Amino acid sequence: MWHSLRIRFMFWTTVVVLIIVGGNFLLDYQEQKRQMEMELREKARVITHQFLAIREFMAHNQDRINYDSQGHFEFKHLNPAAVGRGVGKIFNERTNYSIKQTRLKPRIVENAPDRFEIAGLQKFREQPQLKEYWGQETKDGKRVYRYMVPLKIRESCLPCHGKPAGKLDIAGYPKEGYELGQLGGAVSVTLPMDSFLASLRANTFRHLGFFLILAAVILAAINFLMQRLVDQPLDKLRLAALKLGKGWMDLDMSDFRAYGEIHQLGEQFQDMARQLKEMYERLEEKVKERTTQLRLANEELKAQREILRKANRELEKANELKSQFLASMSHELRTPLTSIIAFSELMLSDLPEGHETQRENLQEIRDNGTNLLRMIDNLLDLAKIESGHYQINLEVMDLVDVVGSVERMVQPIARKKNVALNTVISDVPLIKADPDKVHRILLNLVGNAVKFTPPGGRVDVTVRYDGQQDEVVMEVADTGIGISKENQEIIFERFRQVDGSDSRKYKGTGLGLALAKELTDMHRGKITVDSQPGRGSIFTVRLPVNLESVKVG
Ligand code: ADP
Repeated sequence: MWHSLRIRFMFWTTVVVLIIVGGNFLLDYQEQKRQMEMELREKARVITHQFLAIREFMAHNQDRINYDSQGHFEFKHLNPAAVGRGVGKIFNERTNYSIKQTRLKPRIVENAPDRFEIAGLQKFREQPQLKEYWGQETKDGKRVYRYMVPLKIRESCLPCHGKPAGKLDIAGYPKEGYELGQLGGAVSVTLPMDSFLASLRANTFRHLGFFLILAAVILAAINFLMQRLVDQPLDKLRLAALKLGKGWMDLDMSDFRAYGEIHQLGEQFQDMARQLKEMYERLEEKVKERTTQLRLANEELKAQREILRKANRELEKANELKSQFLASMSHELRTPLTSIIAFSELMLSDLPEGHETQRENLQEIRDNGTNLLRMIDNLLDLAKIESGHYQINLEVMDLVDVVGSVERMVQPIARKKNVALNTVISDVPLIKADPDKVHRILLNLVGNAVKFTPPGGRVDVTVRYDGQQDEVVMEVADTGIGISKENQEIIFERFRQVDGSDSRKYKGTGLGLALAKELTDMHRGKITVDSQPGRGSIFTVRLPVNLESVKVG
């Protein structure tokens, strides 16, 4: 409920109205009290002045009262004080007001001052220019208003109250010895406040009632207006937004009545709903359109896929044919080539001393034949691997034999090229591997090292055992042209050769390293290269000592 805007608004409006009404009521009450006091004082003032007028009249007519027509003096006891007392008594009897003369040292007991009057008389004595003294008190359980004016000694007072002090005056009282202008006493009036207070109370209640009714009417009016102008239209908008949120696009807000900003809000909301509906419809159309397009594209894709599949099948077939062709071609080439190499070696060994040109020619035939054979072997092996008819045959073998055989094959070429080829074999165990394949790996690496090392350089082949990994490590290090970092990543791929004038002048097929890697992988080994252009390369092959038979295909 507290979330309701109207309740919040009403709460704070009520607080504000109550503060204003309460403040106004307090001010009004104070004002009425002030008015009542002024009225009481004015009344007391009038009564007192009338009383003083009687006293003064009596003072002026003393001679007339106390002398008879023959001029004989006879004191009649009708002096101002006596008359004042008498008048006061009659006044007090007839009204519930009281008026009396008083002073600190009264001649008679009736004039004795009470507590309030003592305080007033002392004030008059202390402040001679003070003209009035008033206050309120509770007397016999009733609130009364007290008012006093000072009585100053005049010429007419001196015969009875002047000097010499102590001498008896005409009425038989000892004189006080006052001087002209001195404080002789005071007139004190007491007014009951009952009727004033009753009227104040009635007024207060009337005003309070009026203010409360006014506040209630204002709040009821605000409540009613809020409900009609804010609550109801906002609730309609809320319901409309709810429907819209649930996808109810056909909003009818024709019965929406509102004023001012809420009216504008409603119009804008209607506008927004209309636009949303249009967008939604457009979107639906778009979705339909796209779905159709997608279906068509899908069908197209299916057809394409079918074509591709067909092409793939044909490609696979062609590839297989290519591999078969390569395998048989290589095989057919190999037989005559081996004979050429064998015959050239035979002729070399039979050649008598002194036929240097023939020797060189025969050596050339042999070396080129060996190179060609290596290339054909590589091609043949890769073709076999590709066609899946390749297999390694594991047997216990000695690396010393393989290294020796490779050295024998490459040494003549190295020597001819003036490249020093050294082999160092530490204590290596027998390993389980395919001797032919290990031979091919090493032959390719050493062949490359010699090929890419210019005359005067050297190639070192070292074979050692890594006991920690239980692997044999074959390293082929050369002082040749080296390979840049980026090329080191591609040289193990088929038909990849390093571009650049340096390596281009060396002949090759780009198959040697690819085959070496394939063969090493088959042995569950690892082949890596570490090289710096211009400084040389180190190819490392690591083969496990104990490898179970691995079938490839
Ligand atoms: P290729 O038949 O061209 O020798 P390889 O696969 O054996 O084919 O070698 C690929 C390429 O790697 C070579 O063309 C050469 O650029 C580079 N390469 C191989 N071994 C070395 C090496 N020891 N020194 C410098 N470059 C080498």
